[in-house]
Amino acid sequence: MLKGQILLRDHMLNKFLNILFPETCPVCKNSAKDHKTAPICSDCWQAVSPYEGPMCRKCGRPLISDVSTICGECLEHEPAFSYARSFGLYDGVLKKAISLMKFYGIKRLSRPLSDVMLHLKIPEADVVIPVPLHEKRLRKREFNQSALIAKYLAAGQGITVMLNCLVKIRDTTPQVGLSSQERRKNIKGAFAINNRSLISGKDIVLVDDVVTTGATVRECSKVLKKAGARDIYVITLAHGMME
Ligand SMILES: [Zn+2]
Ligand SMILES: [Zn+2]
Repeated sequence: MLKGQILLRDHMLNKFLNILFPETCPVCKNSAKDHKTAPICSDCWQAVSPYEGPMCRKCGRPLISDVSTICGECLEHEPAFSYARSFGLYDGVLKKAISLMKFYGIKRLSRPLSDVMLHLKIPEADVVIPVPLHEKRLRKREFNQSALIAKYLAAGQGITVMLNCLVKIRDTTPQVGLSSQERRKNIKGAFAINNRSLISGKDIVLVDDVVTTGATVRECSKVLKKAGARDIYVITLAHGMME
């Protein structure tokens, strides 16, 4: 198809979608005409940018200065993953987009969010595994936002996504508001592996939407490593700060 035809097709598609779903951008309140990132308009989406400041080379946690290259947490408790990286900071438009997807069920935002994530160097791996939700929470939310992102990410890399192998066997209270130590305790023993033979010897990309202290991805990695995983790389959309 010629470029002009593609533009015309996209234009027609947007026009059609605008009739079906007239939308206002939740950030600037103008109408969002570009449906790639809707309901967030393409102007506001420009603010979704990668974090490029100093970070812990192991867990990716943003550091105040680049004097040290590893954080205290990683020095004290070496994680089971090889390294973890987040696309951006859990702030501004990125935070808004993640919460619209997660708490307001705007699933289609998982597409542009996965697209920005591909700006990260995704390590070569055998499988992509999302951090699972407990089935009780999954029933309530009806979808796992990390699984949505993982699917697009895996498709972009041409590797398979494994959905039901790493499972959450205990419904934990949300980590928000808990201290670092409480988070670790809260999540301990919450995950299990269904089929060890699917994990054994594999290089894994573990995907989550937001990482704060890293307690969840650390626990998942520990369980995967115990089941015989070779290298584990954690890729998340955003790094949040403790409140
Ligand atoms: Zn806007
Ligand atoms: Zn660290």
